[in-house]
Amino acid sequence: MSTGKNSVVIIGAGHAGLTLAREIRANCKTTEITIISREAIRGYYKPNLSKALSVNKTPNQLVMKQADTIAEELNANLLAQFTVIDVDAERKEVKGLFNNSEESHVLTIPYDSLVLATGASPIRLPIERAAITPLLSINNLEDYEVFRARIKNKKKILIIGAGFVGCELASDLISNGFNVEIIDQCEWPLQRSMPEVMGTEIKKAMAEQGVSWHLGVTLLSVAKGAQGVLAGSLSDGTTIQFDEVVSAVGLVPNTRIARDAGVAVQRGIAVDSFSQTNQPDIYALGDCVEYLGVTLPFIAPATHAAKALAKTITGTKTALMLPALPVAVKLSACPTVVCPPLINKGIWQVQGSGMSLEAHFINEQGELSGFALTGQCVSKKSQLASECLPILSSVTDLHAERYEVA
Ligand SMILES: Cc1cc2nc3c(=O)[nH]c(=O)nc-3n(C[C@H](O)[C@H](O)[C@H](O)COP(=O)(O)OP(=O)(O)OC[C@H]3O[C@@H](n4cnc5c(N)ncnc54)[C@H](O)[C@@H]3O)c2cc1C
Repeated sequence: MSTGKNSVVIIGAGHAGLTLAREIRANCKTTEITIISREAIRGYYKPNLSKALSVNKTPNQLVMKQADTIAEELNANLLAQFTVIDVDAERKEVKGLFNNSEESHVLTIPYDSLVLATGASPIRLPIERAAITPLLSINNLEDYEVFRARIKNKKKILIIGAGFVGCELASDLISNGFNVEIIDQCEWPLQRSMPEVMGTEIKKAMAEQGVSWHLGVTLLSVAKGAQGVLAGSLSDGTTIQFDEVVSAVGLVPNTRIARDAGVAVQRGIAVDSFSQTNQPDIYALGDCVEYLGVTLPFIAPATHAAKALAKTITGTKTALMLPALPVAVKLSACPTVVCPPLINKGIWQVQGSGMSLEAHFINEQGELSGFALTGQCVSKKSQLASECLPILSSVTDLHAERYEVA
């Protein structure tokens, strides 16, 4: 592999890493690009994983591009099923090995610019250590393949977590004839993104489809009964039975290799307005990054960051600006859009009735800093996005070097 002047190594072949590679190639024909992934490299759209049953697509059918097509289109070197174990920020080298090779076969890859697009991993609950069956989490295509195999010939699925992904998976499963139970310690679904009155309407609409809710409680233990049926003990003293369990309780940014390389990390990897970390020539974007102390594990922020960073890496220094970025929640029971506030100091103001509700999050300065819409009100998405405070404006002062190195 050449060590030409402008070599960019991207760790991560998810939406962030591949979008960045595409944007760099669109800006410059000669930059040498290497993309690394500890999984197989396949072009698929991760949001489809929580609606694939409804649209009747197998995991293979979700793949839009195979590795050889990606490599050819981007004129890039791909290292798939290759795990990075170390980054040497001083020598500007990445070290790693193919997943099935001996530890002695460590490869060293030099870089001029390194981009960390390492994503995030599902949070593991304490119950998993004691669980008699490994809990499923769906965060990539390989997880989804396992999920499809495990729910085959099963009827009743328990989902732990009533957030974005948990609610979408429940909607997908219920539309396909499964019985679904959801458990969460929150009092209403999507609690971090909408007020109670709106969450309660969504809960009601999904209950009418057949979803059983267990809210304000936690799952204490899971035991295996006759014929493989699982029994979960809840903190309110009740027991529920199910055939399979999926955990969707959130993500934690993958920051180990960044931390070990002396990159400043808090909740996620800290970056400045140019997606640069506190280490020279090391950048980061996507689910592994935090902005103003908050992670934004969605497609649109990574797309914006990839476009700006590609310009910076190819010679036109470009600051990242993030407008308000609403996300459609894929629920068949009710059209739903959320645009959660970055800082949750403020109050919700709600108008509308029944399923058609419009909720504004007003911060302590009286500004619209987030919103949520259901039913017919989702048509107001673009208007409210343009009125809402941006996530990062051109004047936002992000300084990676101000963070402590953990
Ligand atoms: C089921 C589901 C539904 C979703 N729906 C939506 C939606 O509707 N709208 C929306 O905006 N967002 C949605 N999201 C979120 C969105 O898909 C993610 O924010 C986005 O795909 C994250 O992309 P990423 O590239 O940052 O991370 P990832 O896709 O997680 O990619 C991380 C990459 O880093 C690699 N990697 C990590 N560590 C190493 C290492 N040590 N060595 C080598 N490689 C490494 C991994 O192999 C992988 O290639 C959804 C997510 C899920 C799970």
